[in-house]
Amino acid sequence: MNIYEMTLAQLIAAREEKELKPEEILAAFAERTAAVEDKVASFVDIIPDFASKEDQENGILQGIPVALKANMATRELTTSCASKMLAEYKTPYESTVASKIKKEGGAIVAKTNMDEFAMGSTTEHSALQTTKNPWNLNHVPGGSSGGAAAAVAAGEVPCALGSDTGGSIRQPASFCGVVGLKPTYGVVSRYGLVAFASSLDQIGPIARTVEDAALMLNIISGHDEKDSTSAAMEYPDYRQGLDKDLAGLTFGLPGSYLEMDIDEEVKSKVQKAVREIKEAGAEVKEIELPPVDLALAAYYIIATAEASSNLARYDGVRYGAREEAGNVMEMFAKTRSKNLGPEVKRRIMLGTYALSAGYQDELYKKALKVRTIIKDKYAQVFEEVDLILGPNSPTPAFKLGEDKNPLDVYYADIFTVPVNISGFPALSLPAGFTEQGLPLSVQLIGPAFGEVKLLQAARGLEKRLAVPTLATLDQGR
Ligand code: GLN
Repeated sequence: MNIYEMTLAQLIAAREEKELKPEEILAAFAERTAAVEDKVASFVDIIPDFASKEDQENGILQGIPVALKANMATRELTTSCASKMLAEYKTPYESTVASKIKKEGGAIVAKTNMDEFAMGSTTEHSALQTTKNPWNLNHVPGGSSGGAAAAVAAGEVPCALGSDTGGSIRQPASFCGVVGLKPTYGVVSRYGLVAFASSLDQIGPIARTVEDAALMLNIISGHDEKDSTSAAMEYPDYRQGLDKDLAGLTFGLPGSYLEMDIDEEVKSKVQKAVREIKEAGAEVKEIELPPVDLALAAYYIIATAEASSNLARYDGVRYGAREEAGNVMEMFAKTRSKNLGPEVKRRIMLGTYALSAGYQDELYKKALKVRTIIKDKYAQVFEEVDLILGPNSPTPAFKLGEDKNPLDVYYADIFTVPVNISGFPALSLPAGFTEQGLPLSVQLIGPAFGEVKLLQAARGLEKRLAVPTLATLDQGR
């Protein structure tokens, strides 16, 4: 087996057994990156010659290359958010996730492409470059963490971190056929994550196996005083349930989801997972979840409202780009007009409208009420079941350059956004391929802080489904 084909757990074991040296591991991934990056274009910034820079002598991640989405602050690499606004921007400090990875000896070798400021579902809203889906280079990798998912699927890094505000870890993981975990809101510190919608944003791992995702979660989770929403609690070892099987667990299946107008191949993978779960001796119960269109509407009001406020800081004064003009108001306007892309502008306008004096009660406050109703309903469901199983993305990866109506693209978030609205943890698990060879997935959702159970269930199902996760880099079959 090539070194770049090994999973994170296998790499760590081989390094601990002294079968592989840290510098050998780094060199193998650097070589793989050099061979495939031209085709995939996952990275927007990379440490040149990173294999020669290995100098870590401690920690579980020694010699392990990790890539971070370009909205997580690191000193050495740009934190561009794939925006012209921050194209050259480097932070004078490190995000908590970056510090934690470095403390374990990990090498942060690259920043990954994304939709500008994490707004989008294809990574095509990046102002910097176009990332391709490693399973079929004519398709998108999903978004907004598309570069992170593509890098992992292509074997450029064994794991990466993405951020998920409305599905941006799970949907690209689904499109690229890898594992993506959005932890419970508050489990991973957001310090140093450039904010999109602060009450929804959560960082999480993208990796090729459930065990690798659990390993990374062990490293990046934990209470952080620098993030006031970080959960102050005892953090468990997230690998503790991985050797258990599915028996004894109860899964809720929202049957109405499968009657919706979604891709047949997506449905069939959910049905396959149901059969596997039953065969393993676990129970599957029909459940009712709140209508997805309610969650979608609430999400696109809350997320845009928060974004309009968070992005007000990019005014040419404090960060990044500035366009000179006759007076300060003109300078603000020119800087923002020239350096923010169309999707970001659309969100800022929608959010500003939702928060404006006349519409706040009708839109923003109503959306918050809907949010509470949805959260309560999920909490009720979790009194009866351990986990929820369902679809993740309603379709496989879209074609590159498809001229889609923004509302149709928003609609594709129906199954992922309810989870951000309610704060629960959820995972995208590879479940097979379409006839054309594009990855398909299922989504597992757990109760608040139920990551141990979620990962246990995902591991149980992963063993039974046994889906390959290293991409072929084909032009398309
Ligand atoms: N597709 C969603 C959006 O465009 C998700 C974004 C995200 O999770 N960052 O808002």
